[in-house]
Amino acid sequence: MLAATTFAHVPHPAPTADAVRAGLVADPGFGKIFSDHMVTIDWTEGQGWHSATLGPRQPIALDPAASVLHYAQEIFEGLKAYRLADGTMALFRPEANARRFNASAQRLAMPELPEDLFIEAIRQLVAVDADWFPSVEGGSLYLRPFMIATEAFLGVRPAKEYKFIVIASPAGNYFKSGAPAVSIWVSDYTRAAPGGTGAAKCGGNYAASLVPTAEAFAKGHDQVLFLDAAEHKWIEELGGMNLFFVMADGRIVTPPLTGTILPGVTRDSLLQLAAEEGLKVSEEPYSLDQWQADAASGALLEAFACGTAAVVTPVGKVAGRDREFTIGSGGPGQLTQKLRSRLVSIQRGEAPDPHGWVLKL
Ligand code: PMP
Repeated sequence: MLAATTFAHVPHPAPTADAVRAGLVADPGFGKIFSDHMVTIDWTEGQGWHSATLGPRQPIALDPAASVLHYAQEIFEGLKAYRLADGTMALFRPEANARRFNASAQRLAMPELPEDLFIEAIRQLVAVDADWFPSVEGGSLYLRPFMIATEAFLGVRPAKEYKFIVIASPAGNYFKSGAPAVSIWVSDYTRAAPGGTGAAKCGGNYAASLVPTAEAFAKGHDQVLFLDAAEHKWIEELGGMNLFFVMADGRIVTPPLTGTILPGVTRDSLLQLAAEEGLKVSEEPYSLDQWQADAASGALLEAFACGTAAVVTPVGKVAGRDREFTIGSGGPGQLTQKLRSRLVSIQRGEAPDPHGWVLKL
């Protein structure tokens, strides 16, 4: 007979907006503290989306048989709310996140959420939790919309009940001053195969990336680089960012969206900004061997990673089982810094926004 086991219950007191004002989130880091509220919307087969609620952020009750806990039927998004100079809160291209969310939903056999409902959910949460906006320079309110399969059923088929939730987390400036170059580790593991879920933002992709990411950290690197599954030759992306290569001949190259990498909103924005800078942008396969050769010959000047969290981050060093090389001087390159500041100034409302990317809330 088994002895009765006592589980410790650890209270998790959420800081209140007063605490925020008192400076508790003056330097919040990333993803560690959360605002007071959340939005939930349920979906039931035959009924569609219903019961939209803005309520206190609290634990959610799930049946232990809920599909998400067994078959990982889960998708998510990540975007930031910024505070503009006039105090208005604004989102950057949220409709692009809404579209990608629905593309992920399709791949994971989940119901799509109308784009305007996705944006309205965020709008409601930001309105009530605006006090959580961190006072730190370069800070933002990171928003995490996600959807889980809640039906209690252990058969392997798409669930018939889902919950959409949005939570918010104050985020500090990813880099305290400027953008130091990161060092990346080329993984022998594969992130995504043709026909798989690489282009979807689903939790399962990230679960599979944890061992390679931990390996990269253990070896002293900042990020993990994944190559293609078939030949282990072509550059795909980092664990949570897309990659760009700046060539001496004025081209800027990034791997194409062939279904195995995440179509980043930052990637898409930079492709447009780079073209406007007069660069020849090229979405084409680029191999790791070529990268190393081009870095050595000087044909490649800069490389950078991009994504919502760190915006634009120079890559300084690359290492793998059988190689190690440095990009340029190992520090941030000129074009990397230029594109970064162009993007950041649009996001923060400090530059004209000809594309209509900034949505004031
Ligand atoms: N690739 C992966 C695997 C990511 O998780 C992210 C972050 N969402 C990105 C690229 C960059 O996407 P975005 O620019 O939309 O943040």
